[in-house]
Amino acid sequence: MAFEGLSDRLQEVFKKLRGKGKISEEDVKLAMREVRLALLEADVNYKVTKSFVAAVSERAVGQEVLQSVTPGQQVVKIVYDEMTQLMGGSETKLTMSSKPPTVFMTVGLQGAGKTTTAAKLSRNLLKQGRRPLLVAADVYRPAAIKQLQVLGEQVGVPVFSMGQSNPVDIARASLEYARSNNRDIVIIDTAGRLHVNEELMAELLQIQKTVNPHETLLVVDAMTGQDAVNVAEAFNDQLSITGVILTKLDGDTRGGAALSVKAVTGCPIKLVGMGEKMDALETFYPERMASRILG
Ligand code: GDP
Repeated sequence: MAFEGLSDRLQEVFKKLRGKGKISEEDVKLAMREVRLALLEADVNYKVTKSFVAAVSERAVGQEVLQSVTPGQQVVKIVYDEMTQLMGGSETKLTMSSKPPTVFMTVGLQGAGKTTTAAKLSRNLLKQGRRPLLVAADVYRPAAIKQLQVLGEQVGVPVFSMGQSNPVDIARASLEYARSNNRDIVIIDTAGRLHVNEELMAELLQIQKTVNPHETLLVVDAMTGQDAVNVAEAFNDQLSITGVILTKLDGDTRGGAALSVKAVTGCPIKLVGMGEKMDALETFYPERMASRILG
């Protein structure tokens, strides 16, 4: 993650504000215009940018702020608060069922990092003392099953597969397998497509209805910016996703997806991928992200 462009620009704006002993409503207005441009350049959704700036402005021009001893500092604090809220407030945990197995379904477009993420997630859960099971339900992409098996072996998590069988049957059978083999979390790696399409959604819906997952986790590539947000909206419309996993944040230079996904879809980012290695999946902390961006 290196949102330097956004970070630098915002810090520039705030330096100017902090430098002033007193600030006027006009100063706030000018600063907000620059904040707006910085966000748009970072590929933050247009509507999100607009309402973000409106919310900050409304709070910032209040008398308590303008007449305080450190008005610039107060404005920065407001931006920090609003930015944290924009990304969901505080971190969101994965839902665990009190009656195992807990079932997670990972969904997403091809190349988003779904298979890798399923394996990383299973590794994290294993480290927490859980007994995960990976399920190879991506039966279309050549080598997807093999890929999951290789990763499963690498992280020490068993992989349930039934070759190219019907994914719904695979998903159903995997729950039976988990029950009889004492695995307490099932992570189903579903198929992706290059684009959102009806066939994919129909299949995913069927799997979802069959296994009734505790989490339907959408995996999206942060580097695709607003496309990631559009994909999230489309998946959420059909599948009511419960959380987003934003991958490749390590290579994202702009930050548009991280800042927009929650506001556009209502779904929190729960985890972020920070690299290709198996240990590079982390909890998403909105406060820390806002701090990093604001410097
Ligand atoms: P799938 O088609 O969605 O299952 O995607 P894959 O899991 O095969 O991942 C596609 C590529 O993205 C692979 O080369 C992964 O190593 C890479 N990848 C996945 N997550 C991350 C991440 O967080 N950071 C980086 N840099 N690469 C990632």
